[in-house]
Amino acid sequence: MDQIHHFLHRHHLMLTGEEEVKDGVVCSGCHKGLPGPIYGCSDCKFYLHKSCADLPQEIQNFFHPCPLFLTIRSYSYKCNACFEDGSGFSYRCTRCDFDMHVKCAQRPTIKSEGEELIHHFTHWHPLTLVEQKKDIEVLCRICEKLCSGSSNYSAYGCEKCNFFLHNSCMINIPRQISHFFHPSCPLILLTYGRYRCRGCAEESSGLAFSCGKCDFQLDVKCALLPTVESKGANKIQHFAHQHPLALRENMEFGSEVWCRACGDNCLGPCFGCGRCFFFLHTSCASEIPQEIHYPFHPLHPLYLSPLLPDPAHPTFWCPACCGRHDRFLLVYRCAKSITTLNYFRGPEYRQSHFQG
Ligand SMILES: [Zn+2]
Ligand SMILES: [Zn+2]
Ligand SMILES: [Zn+2]
Ligand SMILES: [Zn+2]
Ligand SMILES: [Zn+2]
Ligand SMILES: [Zn+2]
Ligand SMILES: [Zn+2]
Ligand SMILES: [Zn+2]
Repeated sequence: MDQIHHFLHRHHLMLTGEEEVKDGVVCSGCHKGLPGPIYGCSDCKFYLHKSCADLPQEIQNFFHPCPLFLTIRSYSYKCNACFEDGSGFSYRCTRCDFDMHVKCAQRPTIKSEGEELIHHFTHWHPLTLVEQKKDIEVLCRICEKLCSGSSNYSAYGCEKCNFFLHNSCMINIPRQISHFFHPSCPLILLTYGRYRCRGCAEESSGLAFSCGKCDFQLDVKCALLPTVESKGANKIQHFAHQHPLALRENMEFGSEVWCRACGDNCLGPCFGCGRCFFFLHTSCASEIPQEIHYPFHPLHPLYLSPLLPDPAHPTFWCPACCGRHDRFLLVYRCAKSITTLNYFRGPEYRQSHFQG
């Protein structure tokens, strides 16, 4: 065929033999010149090597859960597999803002020789079985516990990157989660050179649960925090707040600390986010319902909103208190209408309005 229609260009492309290609013509995909026959649209100065034109439009790679589409990027990008710069061709997932060099996407996966050497989506390089007797002290990138030496659990690692994982952690880590820290989008496990965790606000590198569309990254530690039901945890995730809550020790925030659920002073044990000055009694944290049915709003349930009430927001008016709302307290919202409700002070008052 001398003329083709290609998904990367809107006009037909004509085949030109190697000997007829003009000097200075480079492939719009791989940015390299000759040799080889080339498909071209001379009006647009758009050219593709025959071999580049034959690349599949859509591929699946072990390192990314979504399909990747061959794209020509107009700006340089960083390959999310090898972390080197790229330009022109990229196998790309737009939703995750994930790019991969063609050569990285084409890298052959190693033939597994027994269970010693494996490919896993948490790391770009092959992982080798860690010898238990080896005298190295390394931490698992998922659970942050010791991977070697005294540990009885088998582990895999890439020594060059100092990246190690317990076999069990590797098997159990989900590739995609939904998390109320970022409720609007699914979060996908990806690898980053450097990022700031939106949970704990600390700098991190390596694995992150990520939403590319919103540029939102959560480190594994924050994403998999225990909930208030797990007894004895000193850091939890709670649906009432979009950051981790730490058990408050030794009154480091003073005594002027108030519970966002009941409004009372937090003198006893409480969970808190120091950045937002958000605190909950430990008892309130375990008792406050996530969902309520309000008799005067019978059509939909109301959900506890992890967003702090915005004092300037005109729709924030509590119909149950007839406007006596308290902007400091947590609110329940209806997802389908603008109804917003305070969580009331005093259990008797609460009882009379809600059926939990
Ligand atoms: Zn090319
Ligand atoms: Zn054209
Ligand atoms: Zn690459
Ligand atoms: Zn993706
Ligand atoms: Zn590595
Ligand atoms: Zn998002
Ligand atoms: Zn309280
Ligand atoms: Zn916070």
